[in-house]
Amino acid sequence: MPVRSRKNNSKNKNIQPKNNESPENITCQDESILFSQLGFSPNILKAVEEIGYKTPTQIQAQAIPIIFQNRDLVGIAQTGTGKTASFTLPILEILSKTRGRARMPRALILEPTRELALQVAENLSSYGKYLKLSHALLIGGESMMDQKDVLNRGVDIIIATPGRLLDLFERGGILLNQIHILVIDEADRMLDMGFIPDVERIIKLVSTKRQTILLSATMPKEIKRLANSFLSDPAEIIISPPSSVAQTIETGLIMVPQRQKNPALRKLLKQKEVQNAIIFCNRKKDVDSLTRSLKRYGFSVGALHGDLSQSHRTETMDLFKKDKIKILVCSDIAARGIDIDNLSHVFNYDLPRQAEDYVHRIGRTGRAGRVGHAYSLATPDDQEVIESIESLTKKSIPIIDINELSTQSTNEDKAVESVANKKDLSKSKRHQKTKSSEQTTFSISSNDNNSNEIIIGFGDFVPSFMLFSTRR
Ligand code: AMP
Repeated sequence: MPVRSRKNNSKNKNIQPKNNESPENITCQDESILFSQLGFSPNILKAVEEIGYKTPTQIQAQAIPIIFQNRDLVGIAQTGTGKTASFTLPILEILSKTRGRARMPRALILEPTRELALQVAENLSSYGKYLKLSHALLIGGESMMDQKDVLNRGVDIIIATPGRLLDLFERGGILLNQIHILVIDEADRMLDMGFIPDVERIIKLVSTKRQTILLSATMPKEIKRLANSFLSDPAEIIISPPSSVAQTIETGLIMVPQRQKNPALRKLLKQKEVQNAIIFCNRKKDVDSLTRSLKRYGFSVGALHGDLSQSHRTETMDLFKKDKIKILVCSDIAARGIDIDNLSHVFNYDLPRQAEDYVHRIGRTGRAGRVGHAYSLATPDDQEVIESIESLTKKSIPIIDINELSTQSTNEDKAVESVANKKDLSKSKRHQKTKSSEQTTFSISSNDNNSNEIIIGFGDFVPSFMLFSTRR
């Protein structure tokens, strides 16, 4: 990538992460401890080994012993740190050693979104594959009758979104008084989504003798209050401040006028380094229109936002995870916590309005110490949010000159060299640059015949791995 950095060019750690560099915050392994030292039985150790985890992550090394001590826990950690296994593994261990009453649910995991709930259920299935424990996934958008049937057969663990859990409870479809372990995951996102009153109602329905685990990426006042009211002398773990961006993520800004965002994005997507990508839009209607536009250009793409049916969302996620579609266009909530191994790129079609969301979004790539790329399209109106992102993350985001992509972007070494040789671009220069890109014809059109969205065949190169199967 041809990159212009404004500060500290040759030393900007964003630009050339080393493959073996331990990320600041993402899935830091604690190599001094082995899973076998944490007190798990052979059936769980075998499953963990088969998945390929060698050592516990920081949050796992710290949280698992606390959960085994039956203590309440508050964990400040974001997705990507291995937090899901930090509670699912010990829950499976504890439940496999004790018997429930007539298979009444004994653990309840609350998640803010259906996608996150699904992911937790998948984790439980793989970690618990050698155990005889069962779980039920209670999420909106799926048949309530089917969920009731599963509950009637008896389950050990419930994973639920708050609304659907309360619906089922009110219809008499579920008993919660034997729940002894309660997990409130992504508590700050629950707050953003207005779920805290529902969460409080649920807490009051489960046993007072419960062990409670609360996880949150940030700790706003309301979540502190929730923890103070409902947890008893909790141990506290802080894994990563929400402001940190993994050093293995290469970031960049592409200054572009609003109307040139689509051709600019297409050009970015055609870089040979792009293996798969999530693209974030701020509005659902842009998710839809961008998805349609990319499809017309032959990209292998699916959409994910809250107005789409659950079955559609599940199917799209599944296709993306199986690598059958390469690009996912998403809104923030739909993408929260999406856990894709080896996601090569995140693109912000729009910069998010909140700087914290930028950190969450780009944290989908560069996971578990891998190299990731996160590029954002920015317009002159984004100055303020860029500044707040840079001040939150304490890192400047280098500007990428998209017009140089075609000549240099295929050679990462050259791109890095070019970074070192470029002069600093001050904030005012960045502003000027955006303005001038608005006034002049955006020269991306020289490589993308279709900047005005009129398609004349597949005139420009699209990597074969991104093409629809219909082109077979
Ligand atoms: P999470 O923070 O739970 O969303 O997990 C982030 C990613 O880290 C997932 O892809 C997990 O499969 C992976 N992961 C979790 N624990 C470990 C571990 N001990 N070693 C390597 N990867 C892990």
